[in-house]
Amino acid sequence: IPVVAIVGRPNIGKSTIFNRIIGDRVSIVDDKPGVTRDRIYGTGEWLNRKFHLIDTGGIEVGDEPLLVQMRHQAELAIDEADVIIFMVNGREGITAADEEVANLLFRSNKPIVLAVNKVDNFEMRDLMYEFYSLGFGDPFPISGTHGLGLGDLLDQVFALAPEKDEYEYNEDVIQFSLIGRPNVGKSSLTNSILGEERVIVSNIAGTTRDAIDTPFTRDGQEYVIIDTAGMRKRGKVYESTERYSVMRAQKAIERSNVVLVVLDGEEGIIEQDKRVAGLAHEAGKAIVIVVNKWDAVEKDDKTMKKMEEKIRQEFLFLDYAPVVFLSALTSKRLQTLLPVIKQVAETHRRRISTSVLNDVIVDAVAMNPTPTDKGQRLKINYATQVAIEPPTFVLFVNDPELLHFSYKRYLENQIRKAFDFTGTPIHIVARQKN
Ligand code: GDP
Repeated sequence: IPVVAIVGRPNIGKSTIFNRIIGDRVSIVDDKPGVTRDRIYGTGEWLNRKFHLIDTGGIEVGDEPLLVQMRHQAELAIDEADVIIFMVNGREGITAADEEVANLLFRSNKPIVLAVNKVDNFEMRDLMYEFYSLGFGDPFPISGTHGLGLGDLLDQVFALAPEKDEYEYNEDVIQFSLIGRPNVGKSSLTNSILGEERVIVSNIAGTTRDAIDTPFTRDGQEYVIIDTAGMRKRGKVYESTERYSVMRAQKAIERSNVVLVVLDGEEGIIEQDKRVAGLAHEAGKAIVIVVNKWDAVEKDDKTMKKMEEKIRQEFLFLDYAPVVFLSALTSKRLQTLLPVIKQVAETHRRRISTSVLNDVIVDAVAMNPTPTDKGQRLKINYATQVAIEPPTFVLFVNDPELLHFSYKRYLENQIRKAFDFTGTPIHIVARQKN
């Protein structure tokens, strides 16, 4: 999937364009806390082709002066993207900062599409001419506030995008990644999981620029660790910023079936852990919560139970995720991890037949009648599973508005009681059908 980055001065409407293009990808309403709203990285689709979009402006690097910030943004885009959208403000003309960025981009040999924002109507098209002098060919007029010109812009982006497909593994292979804030032990855990095999199995080089995939087989099951942590520390300023690591985590999450949310058992849970976990939840991946550094925790027979309770309180939105306690350092309890990963990968792919599903729904409705609103009662005609990874169920109902959140939650719980969906989110969607 091509990666597209937007570069441009602050306040020229980059995030408006970003939001217009990506839209609200979270189609399933979710009131659980921890779901990320503030994004700089997203996946969009244009004429059935997917792409990743980065708003480089969202990665602030301290209080650096504008030109330095712009340089970092341009570097980030050059490093990460296949195509760069260079955005300028049509109403202000070319500024010194624009020229600086233009120079950097020019030397990068990356395909660049010049977008001139704030061209809100046809009469303003005369503003475009001066931008030819930047040397990126035809400028594309766009309007973030009116949503104009984006189709032509994306056509051009795809015309320039390389035909490149990420390496695809066989579908029985379980791809997983480890995410978590710095120093929780992701690299250590990766090494302990791979153990000696790290040196025996050579990495598949160049599958993506920013992750090293290491395949291995354990007890007859093939796995691939998608390791982004090992790719850090190249010394660029932006790489130390939290939002950059979030972006990296998001890329790894997308390519995973299972995501391990790694916590530091010694330090406990902080806000950043929840943000990271929210990304995995939002992406609909199977999730295992891993409490690392368990060797360093002073414990009695209640410590594990207490920690699990704390995790349940703090990560309400991950109520389906199993918790594994271990130590990457001593490898204690490490052997419990892969079986759990395998289990949640299976539930993530589980398919329930329509007849069995409908039996469960009918029983659920018999035990707890559907809600009414303004004198009208929700009527569920039938249910069917329409997708896996994550399992997604469609309920055909008289009026989707009547499926209130609490009843949806009730149905989810009943489905979880009837079938093992440990470790996977499940989505329930109502559609109208009389
Ligand atoms: P990352 O940033 O998440 O990849 O974390 P690292 O793997 O670099 O680990 C950060 C620090 O925690 C290092 O000093 C590790 O030695 C230490 N560490 C990692 N796992 C464990 C563990 O299980 N127990 C203890 N006591 N320390 C650990």
